[in-house]
This record gives sequence, C-alpha cells and structure tokens, in this order.
Amino acid sequence: MPRTEVATAVVDLAGVAVRYGPPKRQVTAVEGVDLRIEAGEFVVLVGPSGCGKTTLLRVVAGFERAATGRALVRGSAPLPGRGAGVVFQQPRLFPWRTVGGNIAFALARHGVPRAERPARVAELLERVGLAGTAGRRTWELSGGQQQRVAIARALAAEPELLLMDEPFAALDALTRERLQEEVRSLAGRLGTTVLFVTHSAEEAVLLGSRVVVMAAGPGRVVADLPIDLDRAPSADLPTLRASPRFTHLRTRLTELTR
Ligand code: ADP
Ligand code: MG
Repeated sequence: MPRTEVATAVVDLAGVAVRYGPPKRQVTAVEGVDLRIEAGEFVVLVGPSGCGKTTLLRVVAGFERAATGRALVRGSAPLPGRGAGVVFQQPRLFPWRTVGGNIAFALARHGVPRAERPARVAELLERVGLAGTAGRRTWELSGGQQQRVAIARALAAEPELLLMDEPFAALDALTRERLQEEVRSLAGRLGTTVLFVTHSAEEAVLLGSRVVVMAAGPGRVVADLPIDLDRAPSADLPTLRASPRFTHLRTRLTELTR
C-alpha cells in the first residue's frame, strides 16, 4: 500500500545494542543507537576507533544481529547478500578469478545475462579508472587498484543501498580524490543510498549529506550534522573544499568529535 511505502526508510535502527563474546565476558559494542536513513541520503559515520562504526555497518549488512532494539532495511530484517552492496576496508577479492572475473561474478549473481557481462565489466572498470585490466590477475594489482576492483564489484549489482567501511583509508591521496568524486557523483546519479564510514572529518563533509558522530564506551550516536553545501553539478570537490561553508562545517565536525 502506498501509505506504508511513504513511511519506510531505507535504514531504520531503533534502540540497537550489539554485544560480542560469551555471556560472562560480554563486550557491549554499541548501545541505544537510533539511526534512520531515507532514500538517496549519503550518511557518513565518524568517531574514534572502537566506537562501533564497523559493527553498525555489519548490522545493516545483515552480518551481525542486534541483541536488543530493531534493525530494518526497507522494512525487513537485513540479510547478507540481499540488497546492500558492501565495500570493506580490505578488498577481499577472489584470487582465483581475474579482475574481470570478480566483477562478472557479481553481475551473474545480479542476473545480468552472460552476453552482456563483458561490456558491463569494461564500463565498471572504466568508472573506477582501471580500463583495460579485465584480464589481469588480482594479485598483480596494487592495494589501491584492488580496492577499486572491490568498489566496481559492489557497484555491479546496482545496489539501492551501498555500505562502505573506510574504503579509501589505504589509498594514496590522488586515487582517494578520484574515487571520492566517482562515488559521490555515481550515488547522486543513480539515487543510491549510502552509509559510509571514515576517520576523516574532511572526507565526511566532502561526501556526506549528513554526518552522524559516534562516541565510544559504549558505542553510541552523539551528534547528527546536516551538511548543507551547495552541490551544484559544476561544483567539483576542489571547489567545494575551497568554500567558506566547507571550512565552517569541517571545523564544527572536528569540535563535535573531540
Ligand atoms: P570501529 O569500527 O568504530 O573501530 P568496531 O565496530 O570494530 O569499532 O568495534 C566496536 C567495539 O566492539 C570495540 O570495542 C571492539 O573491540 C569490539 N568488537 C568488535 N568486533 C568484535 C568481535 N568480533 N568480538 C569481540 N569484540 C569485538
Ligand atoms: Mg571499523
């Protein structure tokens, strides 16, 4: 019914706690987390190491279950491999497949007919700056190149929801900038909802439409900062970064994360 359509957020966490370990020595990773993400939002999670950012992403991906509270994706309990595309900090490619083979595997799972896969593989590799590498072995590529393959693989399924856990942390500055541009424009173009984890206040403000700040002990949400930057199509990342509004927001975010 249309009525429920309107009310359904892409991500809906309410009172979520996650605990690790056996009952007697339990670690509470996150507690009392409320987080609602609407379609098309680009939400960035920031906070110190150990505050539960990865844990929350894993809950949304369906890899981890909430001990208490409610975790819903599009109104249902999240299941791994269903709906959300995930990019981890480490690429985790299949070493026995070629670069193109890794992406074609994702396309096949997404139901793309065999005959259409080579062209789609080429297009996806082009998007992440790796044109012409389809036949290479993954272990022949640098760490940064492997991460780009992982991003192309996640995009292959055209996920409605993209979960990224510090995906650019290990990349050199130039590659990082290129991929920041690419992910942001791609998400905008396709209307993808993104939940993105980073340590960098700069990256958070550049990419996010909203930044959610977490603190540790136990992990919880402490602030929610809307990023009201003028993102005209002509405004590339260097232009955004040079704007006074950007500087103001980054300073504000740095204060909130102290
Ligand atoms: P972040 O990604 O923000 O650095 P994590 O979600 O990885 O934080 O971890 C949150 C807390 O949960 C930390 O205290 C961490 O030590 C603990 N934790 C994470 N994964 C496990 C696990 N598999 N077993 C036990 N404790 C864990
Ligand atoms: Mg983490």
